[in-house]
Amino acid sequence: NGGGQDAKNLRVKLVLLGDSGVGKSCIVLRFVRGQFDPTSKVTVGASFLSQTIALQDSTTVKFEIWDTAGQERYAALAPLYYRGAAVAVIVYDITSPESFSKAQYWVKELQKHGSPDIVMALVGNKADLLEKREVAVQDGTDYAEKNDMFFIETSAKTADNINELFEEIAKRLPRPSV
Ligand code: GDP
Ligand code: MG
Repeated sequence: NGGGQDAKNLRVKLVLLGDSGVGKSCIVLRFVRGQFDPTSKVTVGASFLSQTIALQDSTTVKFEIWDTAGQERYAALAPLYYRGAAVAVIVYDITSPESFSKAQYWVKELQKHGSPDIVMALVGNKADLLEKREVAVQDGTDYAEKNDMFFIETSAKTADNINELFEEIAKRLPRPSV
């Protein structure tokens, strides 16, 4: 079996999509390094990070995480980026309705051009900014349900639901048969 993948140890390509500034890089840094750096204005230089998690059934999942270095601004480059991805994490900012519209655009794009069995997660980030909320939880829930996606609100700042996001994705991955 190519690439060291077996039924107990999965290795998957995961891409993050969404408007600039919604917190994609911060989510990755929180998940991989347990850090949040409020001063980092630009996407971290490294566009590739990996992190392995163990599930309760003793399966391990190694996420190979592709974080864009701003290519999200260039829609034409996106297919190169999400090609072959087993997982797409589509992120918006709960304080930005524009970013929620953009997330819906990415969902449609992936439905048209992504791998047919791609696992998609819709993430409303910056959930710590409750007083600035402009996208209702119900809007995220409804959209995700209609589009057969997993939905969660996260905060890279407080770490709320970050591990849960990746654990839930891991549980939803199709298992290769042995
Ligand atoms: P990206 O362009 O999608 O990669 O966004 P970044 O990860 O670079 O984050 C953009 C800005 O949002 C930065 O100033 C972060 O500090 C801030 N940010 C990211 N996640 C959160 C969060 O969960 N809560 C708050 N309050 N700010 C966040
Ligand atoms: Mg970034």
